[in-house]
Amino acid sequence: MLLMKGKDVADQVKANISDKLSQLKNQNITLTLAILLVGDDPASHVYTNRLEKLAQSLGLQTKVLRLAATSDNKAVLDCLETLNQDPTITGILPMMPLPKHLDSQLIANSIAPAKDLDCLNNENIGKLYGSNYPWAPCTPRAVMETLKFYNIALEGKHVVVIGRSNVVGKPVANLLLNQNATVTICHSRTQNLAALTRQADIIVAAVGIAEFVKPDMVKAGVVIVDVGINQVADKLLGDVQADVQALASAFTPVPGGIGTVSTSMVIQALLKNYL
Ligand code: NAP
Repeated sequence: MLLMKGKDVADQVKANISDKLSQLKNQNITLTLAILLVGDDPASHVYTNRLEKLAQSLGLQTKVLRLAATSDNKAVLDCLETLNQDPTITGILPMMPLPKHLDSQLIANSIAPAKDLDCLNNENIGKLYGSNYPWAPCTPRAVMETLKFYNIALEGKHVVVIGRSNVVGKPVANLLLNQNATVTICHSRTQNLAALTRQADIIVAAVGIAEFVKPDMVKAGVVIVDVGINQVADKLLGDVQADVQALASAFTPVPGGIGTVSTSMVIQALLKNYL
């Protein structure tokens, strides 16, 4: 059974972009990652800290804008507009989920397309589904990069994606389809979900429910990509129960799997206008 460790994938991504980063440094071009953090979501704080550390280790600038959980739409939009207009800001990443009272769609769509690292603006979403556009949200790209790194064949394979969010489920399904996989997308209204997952050659779990996928929901030899990050007491758990690993031919651990690759994908996206 193959353990698909995120660190090995992330190291390769960083190695691949290091030449470009040195070139930009020699040209005195400074890249700055702006992270917009609204409220107190613990996972978003952890993700922000990780991104700051990674960016700094690569000689990139970061600017973290912290807004109170009670901020209204206007405050967030004003903040984004300042970042959109600021020529020193290369890319913008708002931490999701935003507090529930905010209009996430309006806010996401207000990021200037050229600075939109997670493909949240409608213009970028349109490109993503309309053609073989090379950019997509960072986590779906992390999934694809991981599968490629570990030579997991996709053509003709039945991939069951659990989750249909705009940042993970839908775009990853599209990227898999572009690689000629046969894709089934499941969600909270899917009937008899286990009957579908049991047919899967590959399962991409992006549900947000700890240990949602259980051993009786998979067939032997399945490839498991666990996108879930769920804080349960003092533990980080994926969307797939640990017992499933014994049946899998390959799986991504949590922590240390897709999340590790996603941060390096953010840095890669920061370079997108220079590649
Ligand atoms: P989300 O927006 O909450 O979407 C969850 C999806 O799961 C929805 O489509 C929902 O269906 C579906 N779902 C919920 N309950 C279900 C059920 N009982 N049966 C079947 N489907 C169900 O979450 P997200 O932003 O996509 O994130 C998913 C997970 O990935 C979370 O654990 C998150 O923390 C993690 N994540 C990880 C990374 C990373 O870098 N590794 C990045 C982003 C997110 P409906 O559409 O019908 O509601």
